[in-house]
Amino acid sequence: MSISSNTKIKNWILGLLSKILRIMPQKFIAKMALRIIFRNSLNDVNHEIYQKDFKHLTLKVNLNLAGVKAYQIFERTKYTKKIGEFLDDADITLSIPDTSLIWDLLSGKISGFDQGRDENNNFCVFVKKQVCTAFFKKEDGKTPELLNFPEFGVIGRAKNALNLFSLPPFTGAKMEQEKIKQDDNIATLIKSMLKNSDRTSDEEYKKRFHNKVIKVNWDITGILAYQIFEENKYSYEFGKHIEDADVKLVFSDKDQVKSFLGGVYNNGNPDYNVRYKGMMLDNGSFPINVKIPLLIVYSKDPIFSPFILSRIPFIRNIVHVEGTDPTQYGAYIPVNESVAHENMLVPFVVFEHFINKASAIAYTDCPCRVHFDCKNHDHELGCMYMGDDVKKMHFFLGKSLRLATKEEALERVRMALEDGLIPIIGRAQGEAKGHNIEDTGHFLASCFCCTCCCINGKVLANGSAGMISIYQRIEGIEVSLDPTKCKGCGTCLEVCVFHGKTEIENGKAVIDQDCCLGCGRCVSACPNDALSIKITDSKFIDNLIGRVEAVVDVEPVVNVE
Ligand code: SF4
Ligand code: SF4
Ligand code: SF4
Repeated sequence: MSISSNTKIKNWILGLLSKILRIMPQKFIAKMALRIIFRNSLNDVNHEIYQKDFKHLTLKVNLNLAGVKAYQIFERTKYTKKIGEFLDDADITLSIPDTSLIWDLLSGKISGFDQGRDENNNFCVFVKKQVCTAFFKKEDGKTPELLNFPEFGVIGRAKNALNLFSLPPFTGAKMEQEKIKQDDNIATLIKSMLKNSDRTSDEEYKKRFHNKVIKVNWDITGILAYQIFEENKYSYEFGKHIEDADVKLVFSDKDQVKSFLGGVYNNGNPDYNVRYKGMMLDNGSFPINVKIPLLIVYSKDPIFSPFILSRIPFIRNIVHVEGTDPTQYGAYIPVNESVAHENMLVPFVVFEHFINKASAIAYTDCPCRVHFDCKNHDHELGCMYMGDDVKKMHFFLGKSLRLATKEEALERVRMALEDGLIPIIGRAQGEAKGHNIEDTGHFLASCFCCTCCCINGKVLANGSAGMISIYQRIEGIEVSLDPTKCKGCGTCLEVCVFHGKTEIENGKAVIDQDCCLGCGRCVSACPNDALSIKITDSKFIDNLIGRVEAVVDVEPVVNVE
């Protein structure tokens, strides 16, 4: 039997279980889910990525699934787990409050994740669920300005996206959860919602609907209704649609209808720190999603990095951090003077090659340094992109992204090297995705990274080996240690954001050649000159350029008609 049919059967069973278990007690469901997580984690221990992920790290994880305690300890050659207890010295505690979501998760039904912090600053993973779809009336081909709609609160307007926020004094249309749970009749619930939406006596409502009329059609699992909101008037009818509505809202999932009408997704509910959010699709429809907390992470380490979660087997399997992708490649280029080419720093030689060939170049401020308000490096020396796909990027006022000439681009590389930033170059398709464009193989991404703020460094230091496999050491460069000079001071460990070393063993540093990315940072930092980076293959620059050009082409695309 093929792997894909095996996966299909597994997903089908999990999907079926998910349906059955929705009616079972939460604690029972939690225990079942924990057993599946444990068994899958055990299968993973011999996996190449597991071996790498826990080569230098022992991770102790407490799990809290809807109040059921458990723990897992991941070590290089060992895996320990138990249901019913917490570890006193766990590194992190993962809490999954809603067991219905874990089944959706394990059966692969949830594909979109979001991240953020809760009100206590704990890291949270959210899942997006589609509540309904809005279809807006076209106004000269533009998105209509829809405001002050009681069920959603204010609908604010951004460029091509709408954010829907719930308003705090949002009681009129909200129905009692208990009543909704008991009443399975959607038609009754809709009628009640229509009646309860009258807020014409509310001053806030009057202000928002001053000189405005909003007409809304509802299609709730096939049941029609409409509402008209005006400053001093509210009207509705059950069983019908109105001509010329500003928006039609279509709900197809009964569970979502109940949650929506019950106010479960409103801001006021402490369990659901959610926002209505969506993007207008080309066909004019606007899927409205809700963000629901799936996983809350409690860490005793104040600088806990969420990327560490990608090493935990059950999470790694869900987010598919599975290792090498031949279509992607990235390398750090050492700025160390000992790795020079005809008296020029290697990064300059490499960048010059690509800049001279590139059909288009754009650069941007460094989002990481801007975000962390970096005090050590220039905020403006951020990422640079080259190739035809750059022409599709969204350049608009107020954004730091701008097109550059070859001279400007080279000057920028010079400035970045002078600032002590370490360049990274290659093809990472996530970069194009992050800019909302398609990478057609003509999008070379490069960044100038620092040790303090760089998100790439944090990913490389904490992420799963599968997640970081896109980054490889340049072939033909070697980092080595002279043990006679090493005093075991540990400075090199501190500067190596990529965790290239194991630890100090017998008073000496040890370079883990499997993990070292050859950035050369430790070489410059060693106070005893014990580390060196040297060229072992004089063709290493050609090799690097060849590796990059095998996955990305920056030259103009010639269309053959
Ligand atoms: S990855 Fe590095 S260079 Fe790129 S934006 Fe972040 S800090 Fe800046
Ligand atoms: S910084 Fe130099 S001396 Fe200190 S541990 Fe590392 S290699 Fe040894
Ligand atoms: S060991 Fe040195 S050269 Fe290797 S990744 Fe770490 S800092 Fe860079």
